[in-house]
Amino acid sequence: TTTKPVRVRFAPSPTGKLHIGGARTAIYNWAFARATGGTFVLRIEDTDPERSTEENTQIILRALRWMGLDWDEGPEVGGPCGPYFQTQRTATYEAALQKLIDAGAAYPCFCTKEELDAKREAAEKAEGGYAGYDRTCRAIPADEAAARVAAGEPHVWRLKVPDDHGPVTFKDAVYGDMSFPIDVMDDMILRRTDGTFTYNFAVVCDDVNMAITHVIRGDDHLSNTPRQVLIYEALGAEVPLFAHLSMILGADGKKLSKRHGATNVEEYRDRGYLPDALVNFLALLGWSLDGETTIIPPAELCRTFSLDRITKKHSVFDEKKLDWM
Ligand code: GLU
Repeated sequence: TTTKPVRVRFAPSPTGKLHIGGARTAIYNWAFARATGGTFVLRIEDTDPERSTEENTQIILRALRWMGLDWDEGPEVGGPCGPYFQTQRTATYEAALQKLIDAGAAYPCFCTKEELDAKREAAEKAEGGYAGYDRTCRAIPADEAAARVAAGEPHVWRLKVPDDHGPVTFKDAVYGDMSFPIDVMDDMILRRTDGTFTYNFAVVCDDVNMAITHVIRGDDHLSNTPRQVLIYEALGAEVPLFAHLSMILGADGKKLSKRHGATNVEEYRDRGYLPDALVNFLALLGWSLDGETTIIPPAELCRTFSLDRITKKHSVFDEKKLDWM
């Protein structure tokens, strides 16, 4: 749907080193931006204080640079190129939540954890099972809810999913037209009792604020996407085109782990691999130029990369193939 200039992002959480799956996601975003004359934004999703470290952020940046990836823009207009850090963007999330509150698309929920747990337990035993939050607090009149918030009563903010909403649909360059039933969509939490924002909400606020046109990421996020689409809609924002990348598996079909070889970029660097070889290898792990080309220098990749040649099949990681490069 988009004729706007391409804007993509790589959004790693600095909870570990740069895994080769993440490295491939970064390469695809970068190559797509370069091939289309678009913009590649780097955003560090460091909102989980327990698991995010400054050291991991530095390791990720170093790994990206070592692979020869460069990114554009930064938080300061005319300033150095990124990255953006989510922990510095709270004002964006606050403004977006306020917009939803003003539009009546978000409401405070005062249910305590104990109440919610009890409801969940009862619902799980009943026929039909647990269908998400029962929306009790939707019924509280707006002025009463506002007064309770003002009085400091602990609360979360939830998205009010429209009653008349049909299935949630979106387009995915890899998976095609996707559709999810609305009845499994909870009135999801946007802001927690402690004032922090949830992952789905922060990601959408950022992607809207940064005018991201294509979201290219691992398919472990596929189940988040319909929830995120509801947030886009509530914000009145255009939903981007998604491209969910299938997971990289080991030769035995299992999730990639140490048994299969090195799993992060740094290890490859330390073992003496050349960055262009690793980029070449990862680029062709799930994408092909013509089904034949096996050697593709970065400059060529940046000319030819397209979303329509990403494969939906799981990519099988075979370290030996990298050794032949
Ligand atoms: N921070 C998320 C992750 O590292 C990625 C979020 C996204 O790409 O939307 O898995």
